[in-house]
Amino acid sequence: MERIIEAVDSGDTNVLMVLVGAIHGNEMAGVKAIKNVFNEIRQNNLQVKGKVVGVAGNLQAIQAKKRYLDFDLNRHWTPEFIKSLQMQPKEDLFHEDLELLELHELFMTLGKEDYDLKLLVDLHTTSAENGNFIVIPGNPAENSIVRSLKLPIVIDLDNYIPGTLLQYMHSKGFLSFAFEGGQIGSEKAIDLHTHGIWELMYQAGVIEPKHDIKELLHYEELVGSLHSHLPQTVKVLHRHKVKYEDYFRMKPGFENFQAVKKGDILAEDKKGIITAPYDGMIFMPLYQNIGNDGFFIVEEL
Ligand SMILES: [Zn+2]
Repeated sequence: MERIIEAVDSGDTNVLMVLVGAIHGNEMAGVKAIKNVFNEIRQNNLQVKGKVVGVAGNLQAIQAKKRYLDFDLNRHWTPEFIKSLQMQPKEDLFHEDLELLELHELFMTLGKEDYDLKLLVDLHTTSAENGNFIVIPGNPAENSIVRSLKLPIVIDLDNYIPGTLLQYMHSKGFLSFAFEGGQIGSEKAIDLHTHGIWELMYQAGVIEPKHDIKELLHYEELVGSLHSHLPQTVKVLHRHKVKYEDYFRMKPGFENFQAVKKGDILAEDKKGIITAPYDGMIFMPLYQNIGNDGFFIVEEL
């Protein structure tokens, strides 16, 4: 796979839209959705206004079908870390160091260009069900582009997970957010990402909305079919951090945004059972044996 999946550029300076798939190598829905969108643009000769670039995240992890090889590529985007990488000899670098440097160079080159709006959409999937939501740094919950996806918006997650690509690109003047499309490996996640990207392109003025009303409503139908109650905006109350040697195991069956009460048994590790420290909703319960976030508790605003 190539770093740049595909790109299209009309020469207009209204919008730069960077779509990133598989920054976690086992989350391929975003890459497939990016390909779907570019295929349709090409096949129907659609008029694009602005520049859209589809980028593949962790190339080596994609190849290996793993979340990552040496470390999580979405936890190390800090100016200090990037600077330290730039000063090291190439032969000392780990797999993800090289990925990060390449991506960084690409994003900084794109970021130098002048656009009215620079957008970075980081496409992810989750290991638990009902993983459909937006994560955005800061509090731009009223942003119409982000709101057009009609998904729950998680604010302040950046206070709990440092070093994400989002935060870094936010600091570089991009409107950046993560778009979680659903469960890893599900067709529905690819569908939601594909139609979500169209929705974002209409909203950002990159493409004219289709006159076919059925197509226009398709995204809304998709979101409507997800689950009965979708909170609008949630904030994080608690993160349960895990280390590999904890032998953390989430109790089976939890979905994102499922209500929990203080004291409910959520998981166990080598020290015993782990209960909910607050009333709220469970968020991003870990159902794969890799990653450092066991679960979060969030509350609706
Ligand atoms: Zn991910």
